Amino acid sequence: MCHLANPRAASGMGNWTCARANAPLSSCNPSGKGGTILLQPQDIAIVGCGPGGMAAALFLARAGHRVTIFEQFDAPRPVGSGLLIQPTGQRVLAKLGLLEAIVPLATPVSRLIGWNVANGLRALDMEYAGLGAGKYALGIHRSSLFDVLFAAVHSAAIPILCDKILCDATVDGDAARPCFADGTTGGRFDLLIDASGANGPLTRGKNHILPYGAYWTSVDVPDGSTILPDALEQRYFAGHKMAGILPIGRNPATGNPGAALFWSVRIKDAAATRAASIAPWRAAFCELWPDAAPFVDQVADFDALTLATYRHRTGKAATHRRIIHLGDAWHATSPQLGQGANMALMDALALARAVDTADAVGDIVRLYQYWRQDHVRLYQALSRILTPMYQSDGAILPFLRDRAIHHGARLTGVRRLIARLVSGELGSVG
Ligand SMILES: Cc1cc2nc3c(=O)[nH]c(=O)nc-3n(C[C@H](O)[C@H](O)[C@H](O)COP(=O)(O)OP(=O)(O)OC[C@H]3O[C@@H](n4cnc5c(N)ncnc54)[C@H](O)[C@@H]3O)c2cc1C
Repeated sequence: MCHLANPRAASGMGNWTCARANAPLSSCNPSGKGGTILLQPQDIAIVGCGPGGMAAALFLARAGHRVTIFEQFDAPRPVGSGLLIQPTGQRVLAKLGLLEAIVPLATPVSRLIGWNVANGLRALDMEYAGLGAGKYALGIHRSSLFDVLFAAVHSAAIPILCDKILCDATVDGDAARPCFADGTTGGRFDLLIDASGANGPLTRGKNHILPYGAYWTSVDVPDGSTILPDALEQRYFAGHKMAGILPIGRNPATGNPGAALFWSVRIKDAAATRAASIAPWRAAFCELWPDAAPFVDQVADFDALTLATYRHRTGKAATHRRIIHLGDAWHATSPQLGQGANMALMDALALARAVDTADAVGDIVRLYQYWRQDHVRLYQALSRILTPMYQSDGAILPFLRDRAIHHGARLTGVRRLIARLVSGELGSVG
């Protein structure tokens, strides 16, 4: 349990100190086990059954709070293909006691490597060994991560109310009430945690839809594949073509070892790419990356591909002391740095710790921001700077990228910095 040195006297985050401010965030105990809850058990609504919402629900329920999850779908389900769970996200899952269940479903990814086929230079080169021995990311299918979190939510008997599309929220005195599209409110809650993702109706901050997104799908890893089994690999042509393959452990559709395929596309061209049917898409992928053919050949038609649009948005951690945003509902970035789900998990841990630590509801947001804001701002800035180097029409940024990575990544200090950046460790508390 962390205790504020002088919580009442503090007027802003800069004044806040914590007796364990130097302790890693992950070493604090939001489960409440062995500590006391300073606040009385709270009635907490969490909107959104994604990784952030479910992790927050588990931490808070285990700490003794009464948690209800609301979800827009008729049944909670994962959306999308593969993702990387960075060491930062792994620590949160370990804290939940779920990492052991995740590992067998995932592929350890020790390296991210990408080549610009136009000049033969490395455009991406990162090894998790730069963080120290035994560090790696986990490539996983989204539904595997979802299933493990969802099973834990189910075991904890946390109620999930479906078909509840959040459209607004009100605060009246000490009662926060979510308002749903079916005209109901979920009732009265001490806290409303908005984990409704990048399109959530309560999010603040302008959405910058990026010019490039990607088509994604999952396939089996073909027998005899020459593509590195423990790496996220990419091929580029400057910044306007990009193909990637990420191992994702077990492919839930087949039970075989799986991989996520992704193909960068200008959003304005996405409909035309789809209309041209699958053969030209396969040909373009394989022209950029001939060795990918056994993966690409498994994509029977465009219905197997999902278009993901990417966006940047820095919202607010809270719009009221009783309405707190988490994960993509607070901050959305392009997935170039592979941080979004990890940051949602880190938010969940920090928020649970803030609830655990605060001795009044008004303290929660300030503590939450104190632990998360700098990291969020850093990665929002890095994503803004780095994304155009990997997905844009210009020639200058990819040119600089290739020179910096190909030559710079030979230097030990640079390699370590890249490893800390890509793993999400840079600027993280704990
Ligand atoms: C193509 C792609 C690749 C990515 N790769 C990575 C990666 O490698 N590593 C990584 O860490 N991140 C990655 N991300 C980002 C990551 O998926 C997100 O950042 C992460 O899922 C955010 O988690 P969340 O819980 O905040 O929100 P979400 O996962 O978006 O969950 C939101 C939940 O809220 C529900 N919801 C939405 N609106 C409402 C509403 N109005 N009312 C009620 N319920 C609602 C949704 O149905 C959903 O269940 C990637 C994203 C994309 C698109």
